[in-house]
Amino acid sequence: MVKICCIGAGYVGGPTMAMIALKCPNIQVVVVDISKPRIAAWNSDELPIYEPGLDAVVKACRGKNLFFSTDVEKHVAEADIVFVSVNTPTKTRGLGAGKAADLTYWESAARMIADVSKSDKIVVEKSTVPVKTAEAIEKILTHNKKGINFQILSNPEFLAEGTAIEDLAKPDRVLIGGRETPGGQKAVEALKAVYAHWVPEDRILTTNLWSAELSKLAANAFLAQRISSINAMSALCESTGADVSEVAYAVGKDSRIGPKFLNASVAFGGSCFQKDILNLVYICECNGLPEVAHYWKQVVQINDYQKTRFVKRVVSSMFNTVSGKKIAILGFAFKKDTGDTRETPAIDVCHGLLGDKAHLSIYDPQVTEDQIKRDLSMNKFDWDHPLHLQPQSPTAFKQVSVVWDAYEATKDAHGVCIITEWEEFKKLDYQRIYDNMQKPAFIFDGRNVLNVEELRKIGFIVYSIGKPLDP
Ligand code: NAD
Repeated sequence: MVKICCIGAGYVGGPTMAMIALKCPNIQVVVVDISKPRIAAWNSDELPIYEPGLDAVVKACRGKNLFFSTDVEKHVAEADIVFVSVNTPTKTRGLGAGKAADLTYWESAARMIADVSKSDKIVVEKSTVPVKTAEAIEKILTHNKKGINFQILSNPEFLAEGTAIEDLAKPDRVLIGGRETPGGQKAVEALKAVYAHWVPEDRILTTNLWSAELSKLAANAFLAQRISSINAMSALCESTGADVSEVAYAVGKDSRIGPKFLNASVAFGGSCFQKDILNLVYICECNGLPEVAHYWKQVVQINDYQKTRFVKRVVSSMFNTVSGKKIAILGFAFKKDTGDTRETPAIDVCHGLLGDKAHLSIYDPQVTEDQIKRDLSMNKFDWDHPLHLQPQSPTAFKQVSVVWDAYEATKDAHGVCIITEWEEFKKLDYQRIYDNMQKPAFIFDGRNVLNVEELRKIGFIVYSIGKPLDP
């Protein structure tokens, strides 16, 4: 029986390994993590992450060929294939701070693999890493362990949170990069054989190592760029009377462009887009390509601009101050169908409004009060002063309450901001909400999910990203 071990039981390690276990009953999969609470949650009925369809997949194979454990070294030592899916956040200090990927977790995982290995292994980069990381990993593994054959593969993950199970079950492609040596190619074939259990052959792409590593950064940069492109257009729409949804529809009908990922919004968020673009910017700079670095930097800068623009619109619409006013924040997760708040635009919007002394009442169906307070205790990333993460003044928390119902959040509020596109926000009784709000009642739809005309008929003053302003 082939044995797989995955280091890192996070948003990627957990679901990807659960899918491999489901589709490959003849493979034993153990997901290991240094976080005891996370592993305990994977072994319980309350999984540590919310992802539609994940519970059923885990329940179908946990205890059969899928296991979660904190005994990292034992399971790594026993595995034939070791996936490494640890976090690779942006470095917060030292060389490259604010841009470069922090590979501390990766390096310690690689050193541990070298330490405990007694047999040949395929080591798979599942985390998103800078191009050429495999070269560094090879050095760590081979210099620390003589006589064992390690083959490094790059197999970046393209799943999107919120649709992870669907994406894993029917991926657009699986990408495997390996060394162009007989050993490297044998390893590529071994990993291909795992995915071939359910992924059609023409969707399994094989490339050299560096192409695979760079493709993941490139894919995220292209996706984020589309959002920044349509968001930049949304600003122009508001100034000219054009409607960004109509523009996006017309533009997306061009088969060379396509309709997906063209929704204007308050901004993109999540743990990956900004981090991976900053990483790309840093790699370009290190490779003497400042113009290319500048080009990609703009994608992040437009994203920041969009968040600032949204906050300014809220404040200016409400007679240039939100001081002492209650603002309901509906949605805190960075997108619907996830409880993940990493880099969510909600953080910057809340900081902006708190800065003008608003009182915030926050509701999200999947995000806990602890998460929200932890997120708001950090200040935002400032491009000119990389990652000065300072605790928020404790008094700011007196202005924040987290509630468990959208009607409670909006009761007596002066304004409502939609930050996450949760389906339930489309179905709320907006007449009831209007009746219970201060007047004039404002709605700021940061996701363009509400029916502007209907809201205006009720009596709301409505701002929707990139749409003609209230007559
Ligand atoms: P995560 O923070 O949810 O999970 C990482 C896990 O690794 C944590 O539970 C941590 O405790 C564990 N870990 C760290 N060092 C360890 C070690 N030495 N031994 C054992 N466990 C260790 O991160 P994530 O969202 O799953 O992302 C993982 C990687 O995948 C990142 O590089 C990310 O960029 C990439 N990625 C993420 C997504 C996404 O949507 N989240 C999508 C594609 C790729």
